[in-house]
Amino acid sequence: MAERISGHTELIGLIATPIRHSKSPKMHNEAFAKLGLDYAYLAFEVGNEELEDAVKGFKALKVRGYNVSMPNKTVIGQYLDHLSPAAELCGAVNTVVNDNGVLTGHITDGIGYMRSLKDAGIEPAGKKVTITGAGGAATAIEIQMALDGVKEISIFNRRDEFWERAEQNVKNINEKTSCKATLFDLADTEAFKREIEDSYLFANATGVGMKPLEGQMVIPDASFLRKDLIVTDVVYMPTETELLRVAKEVGCKTMNGLGMMLYQGAAAFELWTGKEMPIDYMKEILDIKF
Ligand code: NAD
Repeated sequence: MAERISGHTELIGLIATPIRHSKSPKMHNEAFAKLGLDYAYLAFEVGNEELEDAVKGFKALKVRGYNVSMPNKTVIGQYLDHLSPAAELCGAVNTVVNDNGVLTGHITDGIGYMRSLKDAGIEPAGKKVTITGAGGAATAIEIQMALDGVKEISIFNRRDEFWERAEQNVKNINEKTSCKATLFDLADTEAFKREIEDSYLFANATGVGMKPLEGQMVIPDASFLRKDLIVTDVVYMPTETELLRVAKEVGCKTMNGLGMMLYQGAAAFELWTGKEMPIDYMKEILDIKF
């Protein structure tokens, strides 16, 4: 690192709290080093109270850009000059790009999910998808799917504190894209089975399958799946959730959340540097298999 940093090195940041556990600094710094790009990526513990000052400070320092995670993701939009169409529809930003003092907010989580599908030869455009969830990950995926030409999305969620957001996602998709979205109660297992039955892909975008819900799955049992259904999970810890384990047993093509995690970083990297992240190298160095 010491020989890489000079008076010309540009800073790229990550703001969130808590943030010290993040793998993003390793991912981006390894990619900068591999491509010989003169940037350094550092994490900063920033809460919503200091957020406006942090945005102004980064701008004054001419920082090229930064990632944004919780709790700042849904709050930072008001301090930026522009939002990408996906960030606008999601009401969230995970990447800021500073073009000569003009700040644009993007959300690359959904882009990352769609690229990870493409990487595996999966193309949901023009097809029907069923998805569970209406939180941060689910919203980004649902909006990006709709923007990328998925024909129909059936969204299932519990009637919990995320239900209103699910309603908002459906409204945004139906009003602002050519995709048709419908919301169902996750408790309606008859509808759940029926909607998955004629879907090309089923995506879990809830935390079910990850601690403290490890070993559980959002579908009641394996009869909800069929061999030619593609099944994806946003969870990447564990790399094989109960849903993916059962889906593999049925014979489905499956994908965990590691691809989304890697490609959301790759999309941000491209926005800041104009260069493609060396994906195969990153998979090897981060020991990522999806
Ligand atoms: P969130 O808290 O914003 O949303 C949680 C969602 O899960 C809501 O829709 C909620 O209704 C649903 N839910 C919670 N408990 C449930 C239960 N018992 N049964 C059914 N539904 C339930 O969370 P998030 O930030 O969207 O994260 C969700 C998951 O996605 C987490 O496991 C997280 O690690 C993962 N994630 C992965 C990536 C990636 O890059 N792969 C990115 C972000 C999040």
